[in-house]
Amino acid sequence: MSALTARTRVFTILGNPVEHSLSPVIQNAAFQEAQVDGVYVALRCDAEQMVGFMSGLGRSGGAGNVTLPHKEKAASVLDKPLEAVRRTGACNTFWGESGKLCGDNTDVEGFRRAQRHFLGGAATGYRVLLLGAGGAARAALVSLIDDGVQDVLILNRTVERARAVARRIGGDRVRVAESHSDVDDGEFDLVVNTTRLGLHSDDELPFDLERLSRADAVMDLVYGPSATAFVAASKRLGIPAVDGGEMLVHQGAAAFERWWGEEAPIDAMRQALEAARSSQAGA
Ligand code: NAP
Repeated sequence: MSALTARTRVFTILGNPVEHSLSPVIQNAAFQEAQVDGVYVALRCDAEQMVGFMSGLGRSGGAGNVTLPHKEKAASVLDKPLEAVRRTGACNTFWGESGKLCGDNTDVEGFRRAQRHFLGGAATGYRVLLLGAGGAARAALVSLIDDGVQDVLILNRTVERARAVARRIGGDRVRVAESHSDVDDGEFDLVVNTTRLGLHSDDELPFDLERLSRADAVMDLVYGPSATAFVAASKRLGIPAVDGGEMLVHQGAAAFERWWGEEAPIDAMRQALEAARSSQAGA
């Protein structure tokens, strides 16, 4: 990292908890590779403190990210929400511009880029099973709809939450499963896990893929030091699968581009993530 001076821009990730976030590792590697004058730290805070940090940093040349559980609250305090924030109701990236607090939800772009990286192109014409109906599901759904998927079936523990997501984003290409049996024998080009299941080693799998007649590919948005149990289970069935590491890098790259107005050094970010994950796995 270049020497910190009075001109160094301060960036942060705001959330609770944030101690295990890999965003500081990824962004500081990017700042160093791109030779931009910034430093990125994590700050654990409650919702009220977060609003103060966003406003203060945005007005003093800094910027940052917001993570669980504050993304919806962050969306509500912006002066200039970009389209992805308006459509998902969530903000994960903020910065200041001419005294105004601006925000984006780069989880949408992060999902889009990760999905293309994984499958080699847009999801146009795909039939998708979307597991979960929280913030990550909304981001994935916006990307999938914009790519012209054929249809999306949402399966979530709380059915009403899935209905609300479908009403907000879906249109007529989105359906909601009332129970697991509505999904039985389904045929899907892509299955996307956006639930939290997989964060902890004793979590059950988010879905039993053997209930389906066909699943051509699996994206798990959850990530940890090593492959998630859902990714491992998919691969055991011969289904190509990736975890959320690639999306994490791409949402960070899209945020970098908002803050610095230049292309992000994606290879350096990917390498930093892999190094951090290897050292966590070995710890
Ligand atoms: P969220 O808004 O809190 O939503 C959580 C989702 O998980 C809901 O659908 C919830 O179902 C479901 N869920 C939680 N516990 C469950 C359980 N025991 N059984 C079944 N379903 C359960 O969280 P989020 O922001 O969408 O994040 C979800 C996951 O995506 C997290 O693991 C997060 O790390 C990951 N993520 C990754 C990236 C990336 O860049 N790779 C970006 C964003 C998020 P209910 O509605 O029934 O509660």
